[in-house]
Amino acid sequence: MENVRLRFAPSPTGPLHIGGARSALFNYILAKKYGGTFLVRMEDTDLERSSAASEENIKESLKWLGMDWDEGVDIGGDYGPYRQMERLDIYEEAVNKLLAEGKAYYCFCSEEELDKEREEQSARGETPKYGGKCREMTKEEQEARLARGEKPVVRFKVPEHEEVVIDDLVRGRVVFETDGIGDYIIVKSDGIPVYNFAVVLDDVTMKISHIIRGEEHLSNTPRQVLLYDALGYEKPQFAHISLILGKDRSKMSKRHGSTSVVAYREQGYLPEALVNFLALLGWSPEGEEEIFDMERLIADFTLERVSKSPAVFDLDKLKWLNGMYIRKTAPERLLEFALPHLINAGLVGEEPTEEEIAWAQMVTEALKNHISSFGELPLLIKEYQGQVVYGDGVLDELRELGDTAVTVMTAVLEKLEKMEAVTSESYKAMLKEIKKETGIGGKNLFHSVRIAKTGSTEGPDMDKLAVIMGRDRMLERGQAFLTFMKELS
Ligand code: GLU
Repeated sequence: MENVRLRFAPSPTGPLHIGGARSALFNYILAKKYGGTFLVRMEDTDLERSSAASEENIKESLKWLGMDWDEGVDIGGDYGPYRQMERLDIYEEAVNKLLAEGKAYYCFCSEEELDKEREEQSARGETPKYGGKCREMTKEEQEARLARGEKPVVRFKVPEHEEVVIDDLVRGRVVFETDGIGDYIIVKSDGIPVYNFAVVLDDVTMKISHIIRGEEHLSNTPRQVLLYDALGYEKPQFAHISLILGKDRSKMSKRHGSTSVVAYREQGYLPEALVNFLALLGWSPEGEEEIFDMERLIADFTLERVSKSPAVFDLDKLKWLNGMYIRKTAPERLLEFALPHLINAGLVGEEPTEEEIAWAQMVTEALKNHISSFGELPLLIKEYQGQVVYGDGVLDELRELGDTAVTVMTAVLEKLEKMEAVTSESYKAMLKEIKKETGIGGKNLFHSVRIAKTGSTEGPDMDKLAVIMGRDRMLERGQAFLTFMKELS
């Protein structure tokens, strides 16, 4: 494919949403796949809801996810500017052309009139649409009202009894009847164009080849297609990707998990895990494999394998993926992600000392197989530093171990009393000695200690956990264990 140009065109009215990030990703991947251009522009015509902070958040989130743009806001390019509010002259020229050709007209109807019309239509059981009152207004009347300072909107004259056919790359052939569409506003009374109009001019002048966006825009597409036709422009290819639903099949909302990219960043997710997860919201790879980094996505992704049925947002799947990526991540990068969480939890200082860094590294390595996000790391550490609980799951084994476990723990306590601090090495040496002195070894020895100290038969390396708990907590847990064993027998 040649001249492949795709875009992400968010409205900066809030943080980058999971759904927006997925649209951006699909556009990004296809641009890269075909050696094309990925551009980012801001659709900021909603003056009340747009903000610089939202724009920053969106750009930061895109960069964090690894979607740098080749052209667009901040970096410029041949088809700028890339913010709609800086492109008003482009829209004005086009609207003047439509007005001059009689394809659009001024509408002076007041809100009250329009409300009344809608109410009456609803009462008759009709779908409300603009009845076209100002369509036939004479030039003289128009000019007189404009001269009086009235501020009309501009409406597009929708052709009657026509079909608008969209050959959507995901949904196939979709047909709309123009009779269901009333003459819609393209420029508001303050002179600012509406999305459906500005987006067409942008996509045309920026030479966009493919538009991939959420299904919620499908009903906008005939309105845009009519404008392409009226202005004599060639249309890009459209692909509308399905909605994202929660597990209960209702529209994705905060109830199903955080909805903004930044929230996942803060909770300690890796960008590559989120990218992988987003790609699977709608796209399904050919084989069983589910781990796809950006490079593999670019190689394997095709729109043919994007489903038109809704994608289900499964937070457990994201956690699983994140865990997989955490396990594959190199120690230095792991530390980079873990440290802010350890600092936030007060486990290491704001400006960690060398010793704290070494501790953080050890802890992160020791616990990485047992967390699904870095946000869980301090919680897990605090769990090990808190009270131990002996649940039903270990009671049978404890009964079986019986006196053996008591002997082992009594020996551990004796030795711990004499130690100042526990290190991984001193812990291992201690167990060796106990084995020699008591003659208890293998599973009997290791399970006794592990269950006594953690209440579980499995978990992170015990020598590392010993350091995480520290000498005092080890002592307390050991004593608690002996008391518990007395009650058990
Ligand atoms: N500004 C629109 C949105 O954020 C973009 C729609 C489009 O991609 O055409 O939903």
